Amino acid sequence: MDSKLIITKFAIHGYNVHPSVVELLRNKISPDKLDLVIERICKTVNSFIITEKDVKPILDSILSEKRKDTKAVKRERLSWDVRNGIRVKDVTGRSSCEGSIEDFIAYFNSRFEKLSLILKKRIRPVQIKMLKSLNGERVEIVGMVNSVRDYGNYAVVELEDRTGVVNVIAYDRVKEDAIKLLGDEVIGVLGTVRGRNVIADRLIFPDVPVSKGRRRIDFGVVFISDTHFGSREFLQREWDLFASWLNGELGSGEVGEIAERVRYVVVAGDIVDGVGVYPDQEKDLVIHDIYGQYEFAAEQLDKIPKDVKIVLSVGNHDAIRQAEPQPALPKEYRDLFSNNVVHVGNPAYVDLDGLNVLIYHGRSLDDLITKVPGFDYSRPQEVLAELLKRRHLCPRYGEKAPIAPEKEDLLVIDEVPDVLHCGHIHTYGIGVYRGVYLVTSSTWQSQTEFQRKINLKPDPGIVAVYIDDRMGKVKFYDERNSIG
Ligand code: FE
Ligand code: ZN
Repeated sequence: MDSKLIITKFAIHGYNVHPSVVELLRNKISPDKLDLVIERICKTVNSFIITEKDVKPILDSILSEKRKDTKAVKRERLSWDVRNGIRVKDVTGRSSCEGSIEDFIAYFNSRFEKLSLILKKRIRPVQIKMLKSLNGERVEIVGMVNSVRDYGNYAVVELEDRTGVVNVIAYDRVKEDAIKLLGDEVIGVLGTVRGRNVIADRLIFPDVPVSKGRRRIDFGVVFISDTHFGSREFLQREWDLFASWLNGELGSGEVGEIAERVRYVVVAGDIVDGVGVYPDQEKDLVIHDIYGQYEFAAEQLDKIPKDVKIVLSVGNHDAIRQAEPQPALPKEYRDLFSNNVVHVGNPAYVDLDGLNVLIYHGRSLDDLITKVPGFDYSRPQEVLAELLKRRHLCPRYGEKAPIAPEKEDLLVIDEVPDVLHCGHIHTYGIGVYRGVYLVTSSTWQSQTEFQRKINLKPDPGIVAVYIDDRMGKVKFYDERNSIG
């Protein structure tokens, strides 16, 4: 923290501070705690010059309060709660992060702990600090990736655990895996200790078990996202066709039968287009205020039959904090929707009568597609498989997708879902990875000026439907209501 800021803040309250106090506060607390210190000084100290003697006891008590609540939160893992008849697990109402250094440390500890726990089911790691006494031995280690450097015929991965740091050298096929690492993911390594390095035979990802079978359900679940209500490019005609289909007014035969069996519609965020999300967005909007956009959204979702439950998650265009995990919409917007709508955060696990769905808007997909060689916007399901392999929704910290350092890393995929449902990239893709269905669900917005500029070609008006033990699609754009 800046010394000037400390001096100024005290001066505002009529105090002069001794330089030793400035030094003390600069090292010990985050800017958001400074106000608390000053507030307590105002209550307890009568002199105009503040010395170390005045500040020390106040500071100690503030710091110990902080430590106490970090401990309390650490013991607790997020549990499921019931919202409108559906079991949900998300950050709504449980965010505790303030963005302090302690929060970042707790966040990365949680990430490391959760992912190494998954890895330890398959490997028995030695601590990195022990490696120096194991020269020539075959070892297994687990660590967080600090960096990856490509040296042509080999790559060096710097791996860290709680006890130390080691360079892992990867050749040939192991190198192929290594250069796909993004940083900040937790992996295992099998290899041999050679001096201060480990020569890797294999990298091991937390991954999902191979044996998981696909679940059979006797009702239908529809997956959509990126409705972008309020946008000029919103596809009203296609949306109305979709609603008519759910109301049984469209098509007979298989397509009609499926509609009858739909019990849930899951929306993976970007409900509205938002305001000021990208430069010159005003030109792309028909509804210019955010409240109006949500009113319109509620009106459109009201066209869906009331016996269908709508699970509504949020994305980067919605009116909620941008850093992930995002809580559900604020109450003033939630109140606009009918009571068949269940509001959830991003990400969120939802239990739909036994079908475990992990909803994630998908902001990190941009980072993965641009960074990992071989990934492409036209085959988004491959990127989703990669998230499952890493057991993390946003492997790399500090790219386009902002992360809020919650004390528990809620972006770790700690439960293996039946379906991983993402949106955000506006292209449609389905796939299966080790028994988990992967969906990136389309959009209800045609190409915007902004997307034209960045050469993003959306696949609008397609819905993914899970029914029995298969996933298919119904199209409401171009070739109308066809199922594949
Ligand atoms: Fe979107
Ligand atoms: Zn988005």
